[in-house]
Amino acid sequence: MKIIADTHVHTIASEHAFSTVLENHAAAKKKGLRFLAVTDHTGKMPGAPTDTYFLCLKNTLPREYDGVCFLRGCEVNILDEHGTLDLPDTLLDRLEWVIASAHGLLMPPMNAEKNTQMWLNVAKNPHVDVIGHCADADYPFDCERVIAAFAKEGKIVEINASRCCAGSKNESCWIKVARLCTKHRVPIVLSSDAHFAGDVGNVENAIRIVREAQVPEELILNADAARFAKKLSEMTGKAYTE
Ligand SMILES: [Zn+2]
Ligand SMILES: [Zn+2]
Repeated sequence: MKIIADTHVHTIASEHAFSTVLENHAAAKKKGLRFLAVTDHTGKMPGAPTDTYFLCLKNTLPREYDGVCFLRGCEVNILDEHGTLDLPDTLLDRLEWVIASAHGLLMPPMNAEKNTQMWLNVAKNPHVDVIGHCADADYPFDCERVIAAFAKEGKIVEINASRCCAGSKNESCWIKVARLCTKHRVPIVLSSDAHFAGDVGNVENAIRIVREAQVPEELILNADAARFAKKLSEMTGKAYTE
């Protein structure tokens, strides 16, 4: 399986990442990717860019540049069980690819009931496009109920290659999530979560998870350029080409 888009990549705009947007672009091009999501951290993450960065992102970074289509987005932090996010709705509205993630640094793990409430509330948020690295042994939740809600609300679930290394404690959680996405027909993307250009497009760990879970390829949005472009067109109301 080959991917045509990396849907979760950080740049030096997040202070703990080490490549520029052009270095990531060059890496994406070299690997034959057609789409590259620029998804830096928001608000409360230490070293995250200011809200002004997100205000300017879409006007400044072109949609198409030298053969690669940028998705101007973010990885927004979930702050509590109510699904509160740390970027204003007006800014989330402007972005084309919004990933919502829980990070231990900003939201210490809660009990399964609260984690379930958190994901159910995030599912209902129309500004969120993608569910970020949800399979985490430290954040147990009612997977059946939550993935059904993602299906109902039209969310995309990422399989995050940085967080599903072989033998990691999260591996079985990822397989469970992937199986339930298949059951509920939730579209999946395979992402690198690269913080360095050399990792752009590296999704081998995620491919292993979807193989293990026997996810049908038609559910994997970024395994096919036409499928991915069609989904982006539906999401944004603008035409995307493969
Ligand atoms: Zn990061
Ligand atoms: Zn993250």
